[in-house]
Parts: sequence; structure tokens; C-alpha cells
Amino acid sequence: MSSDARRALPSVDRLVRALDASGHPSWVLKQAARGALEAARTQIAEGGAPGDVEADALARAQGLARPRPTRVVNATGVVIHTNFGRSALAPGAAEAAARAASGYSDLEFDLATGGRGDRLAPVADKLRLLSGAEGALAVNNAAAAVMLALRAHARGREVVVSRGELVEIGGSFRVPDILAQADVRLVEVGTTNRTRAEDYARAIGPNTGLLLKVHRSNFEQRGFVAEVPLAELVAIGHAQGVPVVEDLGSGSLVDLTAHGLPPETHAPSRLATGVDLVCFSGDKLLGGPQAGLVLGGAEAVAALRRHPLARALRLDKLSLAALDWTLAALLDGRSDEIPTLRMIAEPLADVEARARELAKRLGEVARGVGARGVEFAVEPSQSTVGGGSIPGFEIPSAAVAIRGRPPQKLAAALRAAPVPVIGRVADQALWLDARTLLPGDLEALEGALRAALEGALRGALTAPEPAGA
Ligand SMILES: *Cc1c(COP(=O)(O)O)cnc(C)c1O
Repeated sequence: MSSDARRALPSVDRLVRALDASGHPSWVLKQAARGALEAARTQIAEGGAPGDVEADALARAQGLARPRPTRVVNATGVVIHTNFGRSALAPGAAEAAARAASGYSDLEFDLATGGRGDRLAPVADKLRLLSGAEGALAVNNAAAAVMLALRAHARGREVVVSRGELVEIGGSFRVPDILAQADVRLVEVGTTNRTRAEDYARAIGPNTGLLLKVHRSNFEQRGFVAEVPLAELVAIGHAQGVPVVEDLGSGSLVDLTAHGLPPETHAPSRLATGVDLVCFSGDKLLGGPQAGLVLGGAEAVAALRRHPLARALRLDKLSLAALDWTLAALLDGRSDEIPTLRMIAEPLADVEARARELAKRLGEVARGVGARGVEFAVEPSQSTVGGGSIPGFEIPSAAVAIRGRPPQKLAAALRAAPVPVIGRVADQALWLDARTLLPGDLEALEGALRAALEGALRGALTAPEPAGA
């Protein structure tokens, strides 16, 4: 029986020919056909019956042919979503990157002298203007910035870190591992919940390279807790001639405290404590491309630039162009053009108006395809900044709650749309938060809902919801 079922499967070539009308390139069709046949053989081997092999191959072809990363609509309400590429670039920043990518540029050329130029000087100048720092540097990401800072200033020596700050940021960034890779020796002080000034002072010895403060970024400590503020840590270190470095993680170059964000997110204020170096990401609260920014004293930063590892960690020209545009926008006072900053600052009334518009348009789509019993209600919601920046911080927001269809199935159908939409399932509804929507997203949402409901009319959404959904 099983060998008969195997023999009944089409050959790769026949399956590819059957899918030819889909218009996908031949490498896609071949890969998709192989994958679908392999899955069918596995099903047969496990005693099951293969499903529609051709439909499976077509679905696989669509997945393979899609440009990756592909655009999605972030309706989760999480402004800096790690899984969706953190900050969206401003259109001007994206254009700057595209220009740098698609032609020659003066990346390392001085147009005035006709000689060699410095690729980093323009962003370093802007970073200094924005922060008041003497020295500034941009590398590939914050992990690289921290690693470079440790290696350049403390290689082979001891680095003192609070036990409450030996954190993991999203799987691959673990503070003890970064320290090990930087070839420094970790000296842990304090306890998980409480670290005092004396703990640091006692740990400083002849072999101390630096004191490191790490922002906890993705969790909160409450209750019987104590940590040493940065300014105090700087005083302790400098009293004994030991430099102090902060891994701030998510830093902004504009003061966002008026929008309720904690003061430590403002990188220039951290620098004002006298800390030797502050490291933070370009694609978190700064609202720019992936990058690792370092602000600090002229000599402390120059040591990083000179280090041989700097070349391996350097920022590419696309990101550099996008970063330069973003920094110029901040200097111009055009922070509302930067999506991350605009989303954080947007008044609730404006978000609510967008949610009402969305509910209205989605209702029209549902009526247009003849879908009955689907409800679109504008309801209060909570956005978060996300991206390992400010744990526990919420921004009042507004969402469209969709009811009348199994929410998990509707969520899956919206993810399968031409422009996939990702919302949040809670309380038997699918929630689409309006705060994190970008220009053009309303149209994409209409298209996604139409595709989902049309699929539903063909049966995909009418089957029972799986247990636990
Ligand atoms: C996010 C974060 C990092 C890593 O930043 P990347 O730019 O992704 O390398 C490092 N440290 C802290 C405290 C963070 O929050």
C-alpha cells in the first residue's frame, strides 16, 4: 500500500510543469516540488495519506519567491519589535540608503581635496552636536560597540559588573559571554537584587580594567532592590582612576521624558554624569538603522577607532547613509519624521481617530465580500516600546478588536495575506493596534482582511478552532 502510494506521486519534473503557469522562476518551482514530494513521502512512511501535493508545492513556491525580509504590517502595538526589524526607517533615511547602495558615493573620498576621506566623520560630527560628546563612533551594532569598548580598554584585565546586570538580551547577547569574547575577566559584585557602592569599591584592585553598567532592558526588578546610579558609579571609578562604561542598550538623542519615558533613556544625560563611554543601539529608541553608537571622551573613543577589531565591526555604507539622514533630521528638529519617535509621541486622540478609520474601512471590506457576523470595535489598548528598551512601560493606545471569527484562524489568515498583518489574540478577539501602523498600512490591512474573509467564505475560517486557542 505504502509503496503504491509512493509510486502514485508525480515526479519532480511533472510537478514543476504542473506549476509552470504560476510564473515563478524555475529554481523556486524545483525547490518547492522537491519539498512537497519529500513531505508527502514522509507522510506515507508514517502511515498517512499525502494531501494535495500540488497545492502544497504552490504554497511552498509562494514562500520561496517572496523577497525576504518581506514587508509586514505591525499591528501588535509594540513600537520597536525585535522580530519585525526593530525601528522602521524614515522614508528619507531609506532613500538615503538606497542612493548609497545604487551608485558611487563619496563614502571615503574628500571632494574638497580630491584625496582620501573619512567614512565616519560626518556621523561622528552629528553625534557630537546632538549629544555634546567630545568623541563619537558608530559600529555595526550595540553588541559590537560593547565588545570593542571592553577589548580596547580592559583586555586581559578585570571588568566589574553587578550581579543584577548580568543579563541576556534576546538570546544571543549575554553579558558574561560578551565579556568572555572580549577577553576580559568578569568580577561579579553584589547580589541579584541589591548592589551597593561598597560592593564596587571593594572589587577595585590593581588589575581592574573598568566598571561596566548594563541596562536591564527587558525585565524589571521590584521589591527589595538597590542599584548604584551611574553618577555614583562614575565617582567610585574615577576616585581610583578606573574608567566607567555603560551599555545603555536603548538610547535616545532627544529627551522623551515628556512622553513618559524614564530619564535614563536620554543618552546625552548619561554622558553628563561623566561616564567614559556610553554604548547604545541605532535601531531602538534612536529610530535609525542597525548600528552601535558610542559616545564619550575624545581619547576613550579614539582608542576604539584605532583598535584592529574596529574594521571587523564597522558599519556598512547603507546603514551609514540611513544613520546620517536620521541624525540630520534630529539636528533639524524633524523628529516627527522618524517613525519610532513619532509613534511614541503621537497623541492618543490621533491614534483613536486612526483606529476608527480602520474599523470603518474593515467593516466596508467585510460587507463588500458578504461576510456576516464579523464585528469591528474600537477599544482602548496598551502599546509598548519593546525592543528590549523600557520594560513595563506602556503607552495608552487604541485598537480595532475583531470578533465573530475564530481569532487564531483569522490571525493565521492575515499572516498569509499578500502583505502579512500581525496582530494580537486576546479575550476571544484579534486586536489590531493603531499606534504602530505606518502610512500605507490601512490599505494593506484592507487587502489582508479581504483575502482572509474570501478564504473564509471558501471554508478556511469556518472549521472549528483548535483546542486551547
Ligand atoms: C539591545 C541591547 C543590546 C544589543 O544591541 P544590538 O544593537 O542588537 O547589538 C546590548 N545591550 C543592551 C543593554 C541592550 O538593550
